[in-house]
This record gives sequence, structure tokens and C-alpha cells, in this order.
Amino acid sequence: MPKRVVIVGGGLAGLAAAESLSARGFHVTLLESRPRLGGRASSFEDKTSGTLIDNCQHVSLGCCTNFRHFCERTGLASSFRVERELNFIGTDGIVNRLKSTSLPAPLHLAQAFNRLSYLDSRDRVALARGLSALAKTDPSKLNGETFDVWLARHHQTENTVNRFWHVVLVSALSESLDRIAVAQARKVFVDAFLAHRDGWTVQIPNAPLDELYGSPLVAHLERQGVVIRTGAGVRRLVADGDRVIAAELRNGESIEGDEFVLAVPHYLAASLLPGNVADSSAVQDLERLETAPISSVHLWFDRSITDLPHAVLIDRLSQWMFNRTMLQAAIGRKDPRHYYQIVISASRELDGTPTADTIAAVHEELCEIWPDARAATLLHSRLVTEHRAVFSVTPGSDRFRPRQQSPIANLQFAGDWTQTGWPATMEGAVRSGYLAAENVLTRDGRAEALVQPDLKRARLARWLLGLS
Ligand SMILES: Cc1cc2nc3c(=O)[nH]c(=O)nc-3n(C[C@H](O)[C@H](O)[C@H](O)COP(=O)(O)OP(=O)(O)OC[C@H]3O[C@@H](n4cnc5c(N)ncnc54)[C@H](O)[C@@H]3O)c2cc1C
Repeated sequence: MPKRVVIVGGGLAGLAAAESLSARGFHVTLLESRPRLGGRASSFEDKTSGTLIDNCQHVSLGCCTNFRHFCERTGLASSFRVERELNFIGTDGIVNRLKSTSLPAPLHLAQAFNRLSYLDSRDRVALARGLSALAKTDPSKLNGETFDVWLARHHQTENTVNRFWHVVLVSALSESLDRIAVAQARKVFVDAFLAHRDGWTVQIPNAPLDELYGSPLVAHLERQGVVIRTGAGVRRLVADGDRVIAAELRNGESIEGDEFVLAVPHYLAASLLPGNVADSSAVQDLERLETAPISSVHLWFDRSITDLPHAVLIDRLSQWMFNRTMLQAAIGRKDPRHYYQIVISASRELDGTPTADTIAAVHEELCEIWPDARAATLLHSRLVTEHRAVFSVTPGSDRFRPRQQSPIANLQFAGDWTQTGWPATMEGAVRSGYLAAENVLTRDGRAEALVQPDLKRARLARWLLGLS
């Protein structure tokens, strides 16, 4: 008889585990406390505008091979716009288009970096040296150094720090440079920019996230026999001896299973676990994982303020602009209002700032960059802050991330916070779900690799930078 797997948490980690295990004949029940799937990558209804908006724009990169695999498996891959050209705008207002030349990695972006209008020749030399040194660095020998210290040791100019390293890393890792571990910074640059030509390309969902992780995904999973129960908050996992036997819902109902996957955020995991596991050092260490906030400002204008689909904004409070109206027009959605989303990662500096002031500051920046915004009427705006958006990639934080195999044999952990080698991303979440599913398969006597290989590193990158 096929085994029953109970998965607690309908974020991408739980969804990836559900997809892969149901495809291999397990009877999967997915329990999600909220009314919608998607977890931290989800949407909600903005009552004033009457539209479904994302808690924050999510993007994926070319190097996110498992997330892409998951989207392909579930039929979601066509819901993304792939950007092979990124628009970087400094305070000089010039739109710098970052795109590859025909050179192989790691040289494919050298010309684009070399032409950034807001870096001078001294900055460019420092940057080229810094990138090469970072690729050749062995972070395990750095004894907990933070990335700002590493940058200073490698003579990076103020401009490269503020207008390049900060720009890329704060959006990729949602942390400030003084809190980022060198290993995680290196991973971003190697995987996304240096090892493969396509690692940096950006995939942006055309539709709100709920239209991806909502009905299309539910339909796919249900076709594979997954029983999806939203609004089904789990109060605790019930153990009998050294086995978990059931997930007890908040309404008292008990969902029995043979194998369990706990895929809730790290700060909730301990509260659902049987006492002896909650007390184990692997789980206690989770409390030491810190978190970082991400904010997004949503603005609706009566007219277009820019024809760009997106922009990376340098030396501003606003970090990324996404032209949601333009993205949705690509899938035939028409809206007389023009909707833009501004993302501010690692947004601690907004703490204590009145919402109206933050929105006004962002609005003013848009007017400075795109003068058409001054003539436009701002119809509606709102600020959304996810205070515990991601775990912080501080030096040593990897030590606090448990493996997927929990101390109880028939219980797996899944979530971006488990040991995946990745920061808190959709890729990390999907990887964790696949790793948890691999363990379930192994326990069932049918070991199979589900985690997808990374992009193959270019030969020149391996030779020039010593990448293995
Ligand atoms: C504002 C913001 C912006 C981000 N931007 C990006 C981005 O651009 N690119 C990117 O790759 N990543 C981004 N991320 C990170 C990404 O969203 C997460 O890493 C990923 O979605 C985590 O998935 P998960 O399944 O591990 O956890 P979660 O998504 O947190 O899923 C856990 C699920 O468990 C459920 N749950 C909790 N308690 C219970 C219970 N008792 N019973 C049942 N269910 C329960 C929760 O409701 C939730 O649905 C962003 C995150 C945020 C918050």
C-alpha cells in the first residue's frame, strides 16, 4: 500500500515536497494554516484598489535551477518574463543597460560593468579586482568576517561599495553589508555573475503570485492525488515513542500518516514539535537564526510614468522598480491605472518612520527619476513590510540551520532555513522540499536524486578564477 505523507506548510518548500512525492505514488496530504498557498511568496487582496497584489515582488535568477525545474514540472514556467537586459539608473538619470556580450563567462558582463555611468575608471579597476579576488577567496578561512570588512581589505572604493556591491547584495540577500557572511556574498557573485552566462538573467512573474501558486498549482497537485487543506492550522505533531503518528489540527482533528514533513517558517517549527525534538540542539539553534525585513511600496498612478518594465535604482531609498501594469499587459491584462511596485530590501531603516513619510520619499524619488510622475496623479498607495521576510545570512548562521532529516526518523524538516547551501529564496525553499522528499524516498527503499544540478561552470571561469 502506498505510504501516507503529511506535509505541514504550503509554502514553496512544502509544495515542492508534495509535488515530487505525489509524482512518485505517495498519498500526500498538505496542511496549510492560511486560506492560500505560497507562504511568504503570496498575494492578498488590496481592498481599495480591488486588486490582488503580492506581499512583495518576487524574482528568480537563471542560476535557480531547482525553482525552474519546479515551475516546469507544474506548468508555471511560462508565467515568467525573462529579462536578459537589466536597467540600472544612477542619480545622473542615465539608464545603464546591463547585458551580456558574446564573450564566455566570466567575461560576458565585463563590458557592461565597465560602462556603468556612475562608476569612474578607478572604481572600475577596483571592481574588476574585487570580483576576481572574491571568486578566488576561500570563505572557510575567514573566521566569521563580514562582507564590509572583506571589501575594505580588498581596497574597494566608496562608489563600488555603495553603487555596486551594496546594490546587488542587499537585493539578493536582503541584508546590509556589515551583516553578510563572505561565503554568501561569494555565492551570489559566483553563481549569478561569474560561473555561467545565464546565471544573472532575471525571471519576473507576469501575474500575481497567487495566480501561480494558487489555482494552477492546486489543479496540478490535485491531479496527482494530493489532498490540499487550506485553513488547516496544525497545533502540534503527535509522537508515539520514536515515531510521529499524526498532525493534530487546531480544531482537534487528527491527520495520521507514515511520513511527515514539517515545512513551516523556522521560528514556528519548535512550537509544533514533540517535546524531546523541540529540546534537541538542532531545533534550539533555530532560535539563533536572525531575520531581516523587506518592504514594498505599491503605487497606482492615473498615467504611465515610465516605459521601462523594471529598473534598479542606485543611491536611493527605493531599490527596484517593477512596472506591474506593463508586466501584466504581456498576458492580456488591461487596467486604466498604472501600477508600480518599489522594493526596499533589508528595510530596517524604515522602522519608526511613518508610512506616509516612506511613501512620500519613494514618490519623490520616482518624480526625480521620471519627471512624468510629477504630472501624474497618485491614485492610491500602500506600504507592505514583512518583518521576518528572510533569515539573516550573518557569519556563522549556517551552523544554526538543521539538515532535512530531523532527530525523528519519519519526520523531515523543509524550508528555506534548512541546510540547502542557499540563502532564503524560492530556490532554497524548493531545494529543501526536494531534499526532504529524497529522504522519504530513501526510507522507502527507492533512493533517487531529486535536486537538480547547478548550471555548468564555464571552462574559462574555472580556469581564470579557479572555480571547481
Ligand atoms: C517580502 C519578501 C520578498 C522576497 N523576495 C524574494 C525574491 O525576490 N526571490 C526569492 O527567491 N525569494 C524571495 N523571498 C524569499 C522567499 O519568499 C522565501 O524564501 C520562500 O518563499 C520560503 O518558502 P518556505 O516554504 O520555506 O516558507 P514559507 O513560505 O514561510 O511557508 C511556510 C508555510 O507554513 C504555513 N504554516 C505556518 N504555521 C503553520 C501551521 N501551524 N500549520 C499549517 N501551516 C502552517 C505558513 O502559512 C506558510 O504558508 C522573499 C520573501 C519575502 C517575505
